[in-house]
Amino acid sequence: MITTLKTDITIRDIVDGFVYNELEGKGLFGLSGKLTIQPEYQRNYIYADGKRDVAVIDSILKGYPIGVLYFNKVADDKFEVLDGQQRITSFGRFVTGKFAVKDSNGNEQYYSGMADVQHKKIMDTPLLVYICEGEEPEIRDWFKTINIAGVELTKQEILNAVYSGPFVTLSKEEFSNSQNSNVQKWGAYIAGDVKRQAYLERALDWVSHGTVDNYMSKHRHEHDINDLKTYFNTIIDWISGVFTDVESEMKGLEWGRLYETYHSQSYNSVKVSEEIHKLLGDYNIKDRRGVFEYILGDSKDTKLLNIRVFDEPTKKIVYAKQTEVAGTKGESNCPLCSIGHDSNKSKFWGLSEMDADHVTAWSKGGETSIENCQMLCKTHNRAKGNR
Ligand SMILES: [Zn+2]
Repeated sequence: MITTLKTDITIRDIVDGFVYNELEGKGLFGLSGKLTIQPEYQRNYIYADGKRDVAVIDSILKGYPIGVLYFNKVADDKFEVLDGQQRITSFGRFVTGKFAVKDSNGNEQYYSGMADVQHKKIMDTPLLVYICEGEEPEIRDWFKTINIAGVELTKQEILNAVYSGPFVTLSKEEFSNSQNSNVQKWGAYIAGDVKRQAYLERALDWVSHGTVDNYMSKHRHEHDINDLKTYFNTIIDWISGVFTDVESEMKGLEWGRLYETYHSQSYNSVKVSEEIHKLLGDYNIKDRRGVFEYILGDSKDTKLLNIRVFDEPTKKIVYAKQTEVAGTKGESNCPLCSIGHDSNKSKFWGLSEMDADHVTAWSKGGETSIENCQMLCKTHNRAKGNR
């Protein structure tokens, strides 16, 4: 990557051909049309509050530095602002008469009403501009680094910056548009803020099977997002077909992986719905979000549910009782050891050498209650758990 520090660019250069779109709240172009001030991925202009925009102009008039600007060279004589768009838009708007500052007497001053010497002072102000040119991964890393000081961007916002082009533009229209009537439906399954690119991130993650970078790079210059849309909609349709009820626990699950793993199996959506309701109402299940995959996998993998374990007081009570009874019989206090034929038949295990076990497994209707608790030696407990 080549980074060049330019110190000869002035405000006059930047505001040459400055265009501000009032409707969208965006500073668009500058530097005689060579500079895109607000690329697609950037936030809208937020300094127009009579404080931050005014502070930029005050700094310039007092000769204070306004900080380093970062441009990304995207083609011969074409640049995009990576960092500095708020400051640039502020002075661009000022010199085109969009707002006023107060002078030392407290009077409002528009640019047009200022003395020539002040015009010159503003226009001749030199700027510190880093111009970056390089391969995408380098620019992305660099962008991440400089971004630390500015507004924190999401991972997907950074990727949109790195791979900006027609594909990102079209994808954003579909997946980052809160006016899209599908967004509410999608929001049942996808977590995060649609405006901060969370849905686009998901769509890309699904279609690319986790290789979003590669996918964006490959399709960057395409004007067609049909594959992306089709794959996304296929998954959404699959989810809403299998699980007819929308539950809050569905939001943000790994639906891409679940679709890949289970979509070739058939499910009875009525039975699935009944089962979901039963499981979501079961006190013994700690991981309620696990019930969806549990059902997709034919209700076999109880690890997904994180079944409630016995608490310490319960273990102590059961241990004491078991040990007392075993003592009177001269048998091991592990019920499975006591019916064995080796030397452990009469072994007394300490509490720390034993684990609590569901006598009747949860999957067979057993509760996590003291009545359904027995203490087993660790070896037997492990053996039982693996069955
Ligand atoms: Zn045992």
